[in-house]
Amino acid sequence: KFITFEGGEGSGKTTILSRLIAYFDRLSLPYILTREPGGITISEKIRNVILDTRHTEMDARTEALLYAAARRQHLVEKVRPALDAGTIVLCDRFVDSSLAYQGHARGLGMDEVWSINQFAIETLMPDVTFYLDIKPEVGLSRIAASQEREVNRLDMENIDFHHKVREGYHIIAAKNPERVIIINADQSPSQVENDIVCEMEKGILKG
Ligand code: C5P
Ligand code: MG
Repeated sequence: KFITFEGGEGSGKTTILSRLIAYFDRLSLPYILTREPGGITISEKIRNVILDTRHTEMDARTEALLYAAARRQHLVEKVRPALDAGTIVLCDRFVDSSLAYQGHARGLGMDEVWSINQFAIETLMPDVTFYLDIKPEVGLSRIAASQEREVNRLDMENIDFHHKVREGYHIIAAKNPERVIIINADQSPSQVENDIVCEMEKGILKG
């Protein structure tokens, strides 16, 4: 099973994933945890190129192509082999990030970004996607309060950009109700975890 986690800045994907792996460990379920852009050497290098705060001249299409390239290599090297071996893949971001950020917020168009991503992913899509929904103001204030998070190029975007990202995710969720589950991320980590586990137990992990 391929399970992806999506959300805007400060939505708590990383926090919730570290809690969910404890749940998978307790159940002795075979899983890997990985992230995009990144997860393997080549894609982590591409991530560094994309997110480098010095790369202010990066063109939006170049950025979209780099995300798609990182995605492709990660999928070939890590995600697909794991799925073929019957391992559950938990992935922090996937194609919906590109649709919401580059397609909608950046204004390249979701259809256009989808087409380059189709080339990258062929037919592989998540079985289920948890979208951690949060108001950008709340998410960004969480980030401002945390010391752990590294600064990246996206931190220079204004609040309107983040509102567009959220709007993009809502469009995606509305179009894909059978795949995308919206989780209220403006709750405590244990409540968010509980909502996700509850959804998994009635859906993807059943039987
Ligand atoms: O998920 P994570 O916070 O590690 O992502 C790193 C950065 O990359 C974030 O600032 C996120 O907004 C940005 N990003 C993006 N477009 C994507 C994926 C991630 O702008 N398609
Ligand atoms: Mg994160």
